[in-house]
Amino acid sequence: MDINKLVRKNVLAMKPYSSARDEFDGVEGLFLDANENPYSNGVNRYPDPYQRKLKEVIASQKHLLHENILLGNGSDEVLDLLFRAFCEPKKENIVITAPSYGMYKVLANLNDVLANEVLYESDFSLDADKIIAATNKNTKLIILCSPNNPTGNSIELDVIEKVLNNTNCLVVVDEAYIDFSTKNSCIKSLNKYNQLIVIQTLSKYFGMAGIRLGMCFANKDVITVLNRIKPPYNINVLTQQKAVDLLENVDLGYRREVIQERENLSKEISKLNYVEKVYPSEANFLLVKTTNANWVYDELVNQQIIIRNRTNEKLCKDCVRISIGTKQENEILLNALNKINS
Ligand SMILES: *Cc1c(COP(=O)(O)O)cnc(C)c1O
Repeated sequence: MDINKLVRKNVLAMKPYSSARDEFDGVEGLFLDANENPYSNGVNRYPDPYQRKLKEVIASQKHLLHENILLGNGSDEVLDLLFRAFCEPKKENIVITAPSYGMYKVLANLNDVLANEVLYESDFSLDADKIIAATNKNTKLIILCSPNNPTGNSIELDVIEKVLNNTNCLVVVDEAYIDFSTKNSCIKSLNKYNQLIVIQTLSKYFGMAGIRLGMCFANKDVITVLNRIKPPYNINVLTQQKAVDLLENVDLGYRREVIQERENLSKEISKLNYVEKVYPSEANFLLVKTTNANWVYDELVNQQIIIRNRTNEKLCKDCVRISIGTKQENEILLNALNKINS
């Protein structure tokens, strides 16, 4: 697939902002190019616009090249850049699934791009043929979320590959929760499909939601386009430093703990008489079908516990989404849930 044929014409034609540090290659020099305050305080200099040091760490952990990586101010910025690079407002469209992460539709609306929604099946499996049928010649992006928020299950690789093999647009797989899953990341398929884009984040498993770092892994042509349009200094100095620090010291015990807690919570929550079903989860949250989600939500708020009421999402009537906390937090949650059990 010729990626440049998918890029918006104005993006291909525009001259990117040339930042003062475009020539900066990481070695010390005398910087009199960016009107900064010259006195060192740790953050007086603009950040490296291409985040070379951080990308080196990510590239080695993900077994990728830096040219296959773009970093954003959260995955949300990465997604927004994809819309702006590839989707012509008012004319082109995207395909998303429902229920899924709400931000896709918000970004589609913001960018004035129509979002065609394909419903999951009632067991939360996804029918590739329905995705393929929802595309047309003006479809630029298909966004799949695996494991999916809020359903918690993964999309099978053969479903994703069927979509890739039968469409002529970019296929984005949002893997925000992949590190909690037993399934392989689609990163392994990047070599096979140049229209595949994988998005991950440091916000969930890696415990860095506060520093805002989203990662986009894709073919070099896609990354080149995104680099042309991204704000030059989108990842600040503190974020780059903290990410390098924490990525080099990831606590692998956390995964086991979350999975253990998730399975225990699932078992205990299933016993409640106002719970109809706890869906299997490959993420760090549970989707729970109750007899009355508004009531459960309000009762927990009364006990200062905030969960996510998903009752208004498609296929999620009377469902709530509960994040897995620490062992102690989960005990408090279970006590509160038991307290309203009649
Ligand atoms: C939490 C989440 C993200 C993360 O977004 P950031 O902007 O990187 O914090 C992305 N996608 C999904 C589906 C999520 O649930």
